[in-house]
Amino acid sequence: MRISCEIIKDLLPLYLDGVCSNDSKAAIEEHLTGCDNCKSELQAMQTSIPIDSTAQNLKEAEAVKNLSKRWKKGMAKSLLKGILFTVLTIAAIAILLYIFIGIKITF
Ligand SMILES: [Zn+2]
Repeated sequence: MRISCEIIKDLLPLYLDGVCSNDSKAAIEEHLTGCDNCKSELQAMQTSIPIDSTAQNLKEAEAVKNLSKRWKKGMAKSLLKGILFTVLTIAAIAILLYIFIGIKITF
């Protein structure tokens, strides 16, 4: 079955997205084997798609970055709390020891 290049070009986006029927897919592949024009058209489409997905990935990377920034902020806060807690505990122990030793010395 001979399909015109115009029809193939209409179907190529569907073919690339993998949403066309198996019959269309077979027809397109059959046409592509004998038509360099449509083959280069397909290649042009294939190379243009990764650029879009790269932009998408960049957006996602940006979102992840922002998320990890927020997460790091939360981490810093809890780390600060942890440090503060540790310092206060050490101070309390030091004060207790000082008092204990001080009492021992006065006795
Ligand atoms: Zn063709």
